[in-house]
Amino acid sequence: MVHGDKPLVYLDNAATTQRPRAVIDAQVKYITSTHSNIHRSGHALATEATAAFEATRERVRAFINAASTDEIIFTKGTTESINLVASAWGERNLSDGGTVLVSEAEHHAVIVPLQASCVRLQALSLKPKALSLKLGVLGVSEDGAIDIAEVREKLTPDVKLLAITHVSNVLGTINNVAEICAIARERGIVTLIDGAQAVAHCPVDVQSIGCDFYAFSAHKLYGPTGVGVLYGRRELLDAMPPYQGGGSMISSVDFSGTTYNDIPYRFEAGTPNIEGVVGFGAALEWFTQLDAVAFHQHEQELLHAATDGLTSIDGLRIIGTAPDKVGIVTFVVDGIHANDVSMLCDEQGVALRSGHHCTMPLHKRFGLNASVRASFAAYTSLEDVDALVTAVQRSVKMLR
Ligand code: PMP
Repeated sequence: MVHGDKPLVYLDNAATTQRPRAVIDAQVKYITSTHSNIHRSGHALATEATAAFEATRERVRAFINAASTDEIIFTKGTTESINLVASAWGERNLSDGGTVLVSEAEHHAVIVPLQASCVRLQALSLKPKALSLKLGVLGVSEDGAIDIAEVREKLTPDVKLLAITHVSNVLGTINNVAEICAIARERGIVTLIDGAQAVAHCPVDVQSIGCDFYAFSAHKLYGPTGVGVLYGRRELLDAMPPYQGGGSMISSVDFSGTTYNDIPYRFEAGTPNIEGVVGFGAALEWFTQLDAVAFHQHEQELLHAATDGLTSIDGLRIIGTAPDKVGIVTFVVDGIHANDVSMLCDEQGVALRSGHHCTMPLHKRFGLNASVRASFAAYTSLEDVDALVTAVQRSVKMLR
């Protein structure tokens, strides 16, 4: 219940999903019976905790079909995973210039770290004026898709890294990342895929996608906050310097110098979020036991019901109408501010998100400052979608 007596209809799953009981139980069990630091002490509890932590690494490997657990790095979330690439890979590969290509649909978590790396490396260069290091942009079409012809045109020899989202957190579009990565690979361009919105909605196989890096967060996949993954192809990770220094990431330390640990530990400095990673393992177990085909069909039904119901409201326009979409519906209503719609829906118990959803450039591309977003999960029902449509109808009526 929210606001006293209103049954909650939670439709902000693209921001974060709610945790199944199995995930909470796994976290509580770990905290109350197994908790210890990992990869350090040799006592029984420490050995059990390390095994539980590493078991999740194997679950993640299997979930995205990585070739080895060495390619799975635990981070705080998608944002940190992308910052890791921007810093560690960027430092080695961008200091002599080049272009980093991103799409107009990117989340700030992609744009800002890469842009900041370009600015920092330019400033650190001995000849900053002679160095050409910039961020290039791939457009999105009116319906919210990336145009493959434009990808071919813009993946020019100066491009060193292509960073794009697998699924847009606003448009809901599923980008054909396998096709895009194949074009990049032919041209020797490294690829970073933001999988934050994809992992809970489409099958992810990093080897068949053919990407070099793939980033995602546990908390959008029924797991805890503060845990994320960076998948990186071994060849690239092996050649990267550390992202942060500290315990666990070294093989030897002396005042005359330090040698670093092998991957993945080289990129996991300090004590990680152990109970979070253990909970994430339980979330993956829970999620992979769902019937994927039935879930996909259900999500498409929710998407169609929401799209039909909302577009019947006078003056309402959906942003993101590409044919391949996950359960995300973003909209604006003529003459009414997005925040007013979501506030009135909230009063009726329907939790939506309004604002720019960390995609200011994408909103600018559609001539908007803000939009309203409803996003679905495995536990969303058709009744929830009915409640959404009714709440938006009522809100619009009140605001006109
Ligand atoms: N990319 C996309 C597409 C997202 O939707 C989000 C979360 N809103 C992020 C990156 C950042 O994820 P996190 O906040 O978990 O690091």
